Amino acid sequence: MCGIVGYIGHQKASHLLVNGLKRMEYRGYDSAGISFLENGKINILKQKGKVENLDRLVPHDLINTTIGIAHTRWATHGFPNDVNAHPHTDNTGNISVVHNGIIENYTAIRTKLKQDGYSFFTDTDTEVLAVFIGAFYEKVNNLEEAVRMALSEVDGTYGIAVLSSYEPDKIIAARMGSPMVLGIGENEYIIASDAAAIIAHTNKVIYLDDGEMVIVTREGFITKTVLNEETKRQIEAIEFDIQQIEKSGFDHFMLKEIYEQPETVKNAFRGRLLIEKGNVKLGGLNSVIEKLRTAKRIIIIACGTSWHAALVAEYMIEQLAHIPVEVEYASEFRYRNPVIGPEDVVFAISQSGETADTLAAVKEAKQKGATVLGFVNVVGSSIARETEAGTYLHAGPEIGVASTKAFTSQLTVMALVALMLGRMRTLSQLDGKRIALEISELPEKITKVFDQLKQIKEIVDEYAHAKNFLYLGRGFNFPLALEGALKLKEISYIHAEGYPAAEMKHGPIALIDENMPVVFIATQDEIYDKVLSNIEEVKARKGKIIAIANEGDERIKLVANHVIYIPNTLPMLNPILAVVPLQLMAYFMALKLGCNVDQPRNLAKSVTVE
Ligand code: GLU
Repeated sequence: MCGIVGYIGHQKASHLLVNGLKRMEYRGYDSAGISFLENGKINILKQKGKVENLDRLVPHDLINTTIGIAHTRWATHGFPNDVNAHPHTDNTGNISVVHNGIIENYTAIRTKLKQDGYSFFTDTDTEVLAVFIGAFYEKVNNLEEAVRMALSEVDGTYGIAVLSSYEPDKIIAARMGSPMVLGIGENEYIIASDAAAIIAHTNKVIYLDDGEMVIVTREGFITKTVLNEETKRQIEAIEFDIQQIEKSGFDHFMLKEIYEQPETVKNAFRGRLLIEKGNVKLGGLNSVIEKLRTAKRIIIIACGTSWHAALVAEYMIEQLAHIPVEVEYASEFRYRNPVIGPEDVVFAISQSGETADTLAAVKEAKQKGATVLGFVNVVGSSIARETEAGTYLHAGPEIGVASTKAFTSQLTVMALVALMLGRMRTLSQLDGKRIALEISELPEKITKVFDQLKQIKEIVDEYAHAKNFLYLGRGFNFPLALEGALKLKEISYIHAEGYPAAEMKHGPIALIDENMPVVFIATQDEIYDKVLSNIEEVKARKGKIIAIANEGDERIKLVANHVIYIPNTLPMLNPILAVVPLQLMAYFMALKLGCNVDQPRNLAKSVTVE
């Protein structure tokens, strides 16, 4: 969600900052702004809308400065308008601040500051922080000290960058629950909330920890805790390259990422599958192998698409390893008093590794003594660092807001985990080998799904006028029905609901008439016949049936209006293939309806606020 970029070095800063913002556009935002020092004064340009508009507003030719900070805002406090856009300043206009996150006690601080004579011109919590820093600066005449004093009194989450004319060759950045990365170049530094804004300049980075700040000058940088203890940080390398965050000839990142899935699924199991042994090797879980062997229960916490992956994982693990699994929305888990203890193993699934609710749930589970493992895509992200052990998805940067390749990678990694847990218990080597082999064939099979493009586009053309869609599936395909509906909602804004197919007759069947397209995920498994009966029930009420079925299934043709065929695989792996046409359907629908596929309205890529 939202983005911060800051630069200090020898290059002209304004272009570089705006380009940095462009790299983070995928995260979702509603306004953009920049602050730079010119002739010893803080200048601010900001406005509602796209970075492109900001780019036009900034007179790059006239700005020679080599230091500045910039922001894309995703409004949490106050409307997305020009005034509320970041950067914000203190009352003197000499200190500018950009901020990701939420200052939870901003009302109390603002009231106190107002009593002390300070004024506020925006509705944001961020302005309160800027004014607060300014108020401390008046007392201590030291920017670093003032930032530290303010931060030690705020509650909530922040990634911030501060630029001030009082100390003109310095940027201070800090984080608490919202990512912040320092990029180290040749005599230049880029700070950003996302490595995507840094990679064009350097791949050497330091990921700040919670409660840590960095003071960057032209000569170097120091990292410290907010309590003023110096910290020694390892320089790490960013693991992706610039091509991975570009569209490479595709019209949209989402389409590119859908087409990357044969490769990303392969990356998820590469070097991890031991086909001959019918087993799996997950290096990141070595330290907790005994805990996994004796686990009495697994609880999976996640949000959104990752939550759907968790539901599939529940079925996989219970089937292969007979360990009871519970799947929880992270946002619910963290605010109940979950019954959980040292004998439980908790899996946290998140693409970004920064999802605020999941991160908080991780902390809650740790607090209660559970073993908490992270399954995330972004290397070095907060959840990766907060968990005891885990496994990376290795899907590469996912830029499209609607998750596609991260989902199939999550499913692949969960299949590996289920297989490993199964082999620790009752699953035979022979069965393990059969599953491992099937996993290894997935990339090729995903490629075959792309042959169905024509049928998918025809379906889109026929139902683009529909106001509602229903998605139904059973067993492993039930979570997929939820995911298919979510994809359509997210990017085409068509109302869609996912249901277990058998639940339809307990309510949603009332919605069915000749105007209701119903997508059935009806692949071959032990309940296929029951799904066929559900299809008949819809047909009897004149609903239009779009079926995702396995190659060679002739029966389905007799009942469905449209069939999209996918290759055969094991039922537990079916979702990895069957989701691909659902993703493509949502994509082409959004395209047909003229929606912004990569940046759907109101959505953010990584949801770093509650
Ligand atoms: N809470 C701040 C605001 O509403 C920052 C939001 C963001 O993370 O962009 O302005």
